[in-house]
Amino acid sequence: MRNRMFRSIFIIFIALLAAQQNACKEPQKNGESAKALSDSPTTTNSATPPRKGYEMTAKIVKTEEEWKQVLTPEQYHVTRQKGTERAFTGKYHDFKGKGTFTCVCCGNELFSSETKFNSGTGWPSYFAPISDDAVAEQTDTSRGMTRTEVICNRCGAHLGHVFNDGPAPTGRRYCINSAALNFVDSN
Ligand code: FE
Repeated sequence: MRNRMFRSIFIIFIALLAAQQNACKEPQKNGESAKALSDSPTTTNSATPPRKGYEMTAKIVKTEEEWKQVLTPEQYHVTRQKGTERAFTGKYHDFKGKGTFTCVCCGNELFSSETKFNSGTGWPSYFAPISDDAVAEQTDTSRGMTRTEVICNRCGAHLGHVFNDGPAPTGRRYCINSAALNFVDSN
């Protein structure tokens, strides 16, 4: 009886030991792919390093009626219906304040005045977003063109388009509607 009990304990011990060894081998076997996976979310564009301590809060979803209640008709048309304000009519195309441009719909920080430049197009233009996850890009085939649409990564607001004819250091031109933006002065 006692012998059988010792034998059982011994077998359980050996089984546990084997399981632990396998568990230790697993990360080694997948070491490379595990590293690649852990690297990918932190991959950054060298021109737009993520700001320290910056963490985007949860996505914002509202009904069309709810957006209409908090936006002017022009803001609603541009951001929720993918409209475009007429060139040289927006309040920020020739604006030179120092601070942060935020999403008019949800307040998400989008662009720094540090990256704003005069593109001569009549729309506020930036060579980079304020952080890698501030905006998202998607293909837009409307109006017989293929363009890259820029949207707020928190609420999905249409902001404008991005083109590859911008200045250094990114070569990108984020052509944004003033109506999609608010401005927060840094002073
Ligand atoms: Fe937004």
